[in-house]
Amino acid sequence: MTTDVSFDVVVVGAGPVGLACGLEVQRRGLSVCVVDKGALVNSIIGYPTNMEFFSTPELLEIGGYPMTTLHYKPLREDALDYYRRVAFTEKLPLRLFERVTGLEGEQENYTLLTDKGRIRTRYVIVATGFYDVPNYLRVPGENQPHVTHYYKEPYAHADQDVVIIGGKNSAAKAALQLLRAGARPTMVVRGDEISQSVKYWIRPDLINRIKEGRIGCHFNSTVARITETTVELNTPDGPHTLPAQHVYALTGYHPDFTFLATLGITCEADAAQTPTHHAETLETNRPGLYLAGTVCGGLNTSRWFIENGRYHAQLIAARLAGEAAPQLPEVLQPVQLS
Ligand SMILES: Cc1cc2nc3c(=O)[nH]c(=O)nc-3n(C[C@H](O)[C@H](O)[C@H](O)COP(=O)(O)OP(=O)(O)OC[C@H]3O[C@@H](n4cnc5c(N)ncnc54)[C@H](O)[C@@H]3O)c2cc1C
Repeated sequence: MTTDVSFDVVVVGAGPVGLACGLEVQRRGLSVCVVDKGALVNSIIGYPTNMEFFSTPELLEIGGYPMTTLHYKPLREDALDYYRRVAFTEKLPLRLFERVTGLEGEQENYTLLTDKGRIRTRYVIVATGFYDVPNYLRVPGENQPHVTHYYKEPYAHADQDVVIIGGKNSAAKAALQLLRAGARPTMVVRGDEISQSVKYWIRPDLINRIKEGRIGCHFNSTVARITETTVELNTPDGPHTLPAQHVYALTGYHPDFTFLATLGITCEADAAQTPTHHAETLETNRPGLYLAGTVCGGLNTSRWFIENGRYHAQLIAARLAGEAAPQLPEVLQPVQLS
């Protein structure tokens, strides 16, 4: 167990927004530490190999450091390299592979509990994102090893029947990659079309492959059960069974509400179960405890992303340092990913 150490601010989560918070706080002369239960930028490590971001590089930058990329859109690997370089250049104190489990005390005198010890701090910023808790289907067979909620790459699936559940960007990209790597992909989509939110350069490609019959697709369908070798569907034409050696349930993710409750953060009674926070200060119902980044949106995981969530860092850091709130760009209003 690590013995007590003390900081002005502890940031929980070393994702892009957590790192932005850390460096903005540190630049204002406050001592800070960024704690993550996994690796540095753990969520992005979990994204698909060579995944292309939707955003152009300048919209993912933090701390004013330019993100240089070979391509028009950064790849996962560009982002991993970039955020690591920023964290190291800023000499951000990091505590990685250390899970935060609770919070005792109050503003100015908090003690953060972790699975490795206790950290004393005046303020806490929670930037824990949404990528750790999948939206489970809650059907029999979902917990088998060949059913996964995170897609990495297609190569192990050549000459295999693969079922992809979901009809948004992640499912669309996975289905196309699987086809081109020699798998036999079939999509199961709850709605009656591929989501209109699928990016304009991906959607026609997918729709045309479905029309050609090279990617199977069952619309208006849901999964009833997953066995070792099949996926059983409810379709408009009645029950239907698909062969499946592997199943990707790409039905989205949501913030860890249990963890937020452990910290004493309540949720609003709205559809998104928005974690309670002041819209302008980002302070939660527990004084001195702040939220930043994607976690702020609750179930509305596309409300805050890197492009706009990174500005939370400047808002909170200015407040903690006793400065006037900075003038921020309009990007803090709801926007679509570019
Ligand atoms: C496939 C995909 C593509 C995307 N493309 C884009 C894009 O092009 N542009 C864009 O702006 N956004 C994009 N996003 C969204 C963006 O990646 C997220 O909004 C972003 O990662 C949010 O950053 P964050 O710092 O808030 O959270 P995260 O990056 O999720 O970081 C949260 C961190 O908190 C840690 N953590 C969680 N619980 C604990 C705990 N109890 N103790 C300690 N640590 C904990 C996690 O390990 C994690 O490292 C994409 C998302 C996905 C899934």
